[in-house]
Amino acid sequence: MKRCILDLTKTELAETISPPFRATQIYQWIYQKHAESFEAMRNIPKKLRAQLDEAYDLSPLQTVNVEESGDGSKKYLFRCRDGVTIESVLLPMKKARYDDSGKLLQETKYTVCVSSQVGCKIGCAFCLTAKGGFTRNLTAGEIVAQVLEIKKDNRIAHNRRLNIVYMGMGEPLDNIENVAKAVKIFNDPDGLSISARRQTISTSGLSSQIKKLGEMNLGVLLAISLHAVDDTLREKLMPINKAYNIESIIDAVKNFPIDQRKRVMFEYLVMKGLNDDIKSAKKLVKLLHGIKAKVNLIYFNPYPGSPFQRPEKEDMLAFQEYLIKHGVLCTIRQSKGLDISAACGQLREKTKNDHS
Ligand code: SF4
Repeated sequence: MKRCILDLTKTELAETISPPFRATQIYQWIYQKHAESFEAMRNIPKKLRAQLDEAYDLSPLQTVNVEESGDGSKKYLFRCRDGVTIESVLLPMKKARYDDSGKLLQETKYTVCVSSQVGCKIGCAFCLTAKGGFTRNLTAGEIVAQVLEIKKDNRIAHNRRLNIVYMGMGEPLDNIENVAKAVKIFNDPDGLSISARRQTISTSGLSSQIKKLGEMNLGVLLAISLHAVDDTLREKLMPINKAYNIESIIDAVKNFPIDQRKRVMFEYLVMKGLNDDIKSAKKLVKLLHGIKAKVNLIYFNPYPGSPFQRPEKEDMLAFQEYLIKHGVLCTIRQSKGLDISAACGQLREKTKNDHS
């Protein structure tokens, strides 16, 4: 199998071709002009185009299915070159706004939720991806290609702002090298030009890897899937807590380099009767003391056979109110993509059912 060119940073590409400065043009052709072949790269000498064609594939993904939800979210099913399938979601976060004269005041803002692994090893009890086990890590190119294909399909101009969340299938920090490489490729000004500050890495809380990510100093944002405030419950929901308990996660977060203007996001999946009471809210406030945090409450979305239930709206609102009253920024995740199961880890299994 040929190497995929999307696996290369611009510097790596420059090292493999002559003259090296052509790497900038090739990057622009791939990521900004969306060239479908090396042949189409008109300002690249014919000989180099032929060499590139011989050595590299241009895309590692093939689109298998696109499912659109009522709220405008789109779920993509991609097939990798070895036949495994992965999913990504396009979430239009804010709609375009116009004034009375029809002048554009604000463009639609997009977020793309990408997968970082095929399956996952973490085994969270509430997660459908976990049930399918782990197959392999995605390469940097396979992570990058998810955004590239989605941009192409939706004709999103290359200079439009876009956010990336590593919140699809897999634990990104269990594939930290490839994820870090993808962050750099996304960041390249001759490529997709998505700054690291627009990229959020969401983790189940691998404390040692959070530390490693911090040391890499990439400038990315961090989201922690906390979901519980005491170790006993967290171990039941997320067995990984036996290796990395809540205290170790909080410690790692406190030492993580974060842009002054940004916050660490704590994801809290609310399940009826388990973690939706005020006692839990109180503990959460205490845990987050001293951290510039934002809590995102997520309604648990039951799936066939799921052992947990969706919380009551009043309990959700009371939980949020308690946090806000005690100085913790807190939002309730809007149900964007809910009907296409866009919550972390709930992507692949549904598709398997849909397509088998
Ligand atoms: S919720 Fe995320 S980290 Fe946990 S098993 Fe599922 S995909 Fe992995």
